[in-house]
Amino acid sequence: MKTAAGENMKKVVTVLPTPEPHWVGDGFPVRSLFSYGLQEPDISPFLLLDHAGPHNFEPGNVNRPRGVGVHPHRGFETVSIAYQGEVSHRDSTGQGGTIGPGDVQWMTAAGGILHEEFHSQNFTRSGGPFHMVQLWVNLPASHKMNPPSYQPILAREIPTVDLSASGGGKLRVIAGAHGDARGPARTVTPMNVWDLQQRGGESATLTVPEGHNALVAVLTGRAHIGAAAVPVKQDEVAVLERAGTALRVSAATDCMVLILTGEPLGERVIGYGPFVMNTREQIMQAIDDFNRGKFGEMPAGQPAV
Ligand code: MN
Repeated sequence: MKTAAGENMKKVVTVLPTPEPHWVGDGFPVRSLFSYGLQEPDISPFLLLDHAGPHNFEPGNVNRPRGVGVHPHRGFETVSIAYQGEVSHRDSTGQGGTIGPGDVQWMTAAGGILHEEFHSQNFTRSGGPFHMVQLWVNLPASHKMNPPSYQPILAREIPTVDLSASGGGKLRVIAGAHGDARGPARTVTPMNVWDLQQRGGESATLTVPEGHNALVAVLTGRAHIGAAAVPVKQDEVAVLERAGTALRVSAATDCMVLILTGEPLGERVIGYGPFVMNTREQIMQAIDDFNRGKFGEMPAGQPAV
């Protein structure tokens, strides 16, 4: 007999295979678990997910921290979530800061920003385990040319929901909402960004708004996802169908899972490197604007590492 929950359960459309790793600058050994243009299923409003590590860094030279120097972005948001290690950021709006385990940087590049991303001075000195993700979130056409902005979100501001009553796990609500728990991130369009930690054998059924696309990235361990309990392992992403409002995640081993759901934008996506717009002309304009120095200037002084 089908239960109401069973009928509402989202199904896995596909599991994206584990991609080969590559380096972003000399600081971020990443796998791009999904990226726009490469994956056919609709992942909107999300564009890309880089999973950095887990990786062990030797102590480095504090005068030459590992990372990525000044570069531009336009048309979307970069969301960095730290699990282990520390990253320092500075941008052309004058904002910046260091994030450590549990913290999040939500940077809205919108009309244009310059920034740099390096290991923090402390982490450079100590070395050690490094584990982080960077998610790219698309902006609707109406918001792509807005002024840039930046939200530093500390671990203690992020509510953690104990799911033990409904099967097990701990859910951090970074953006969106789960029950009464509201994520601190301000988003332009409706979305959920949730960190789920489960021990092997724990299982949870999460409620997702009607009409949301949903992606489940397994960062460590192995899990079973969706109505048919499809196995998904570390560095794979389950893409779920839009229909359904219940999302089931069951841990086969201790695991860390990033859950992304959102209302699709339904707009054309044309990207080139650090620019993601709606038309080819807008990309040419972005390149031209960048070359003419219209993305602002980095604040004077040494990197805030
Ligand atoms: Mn960047």
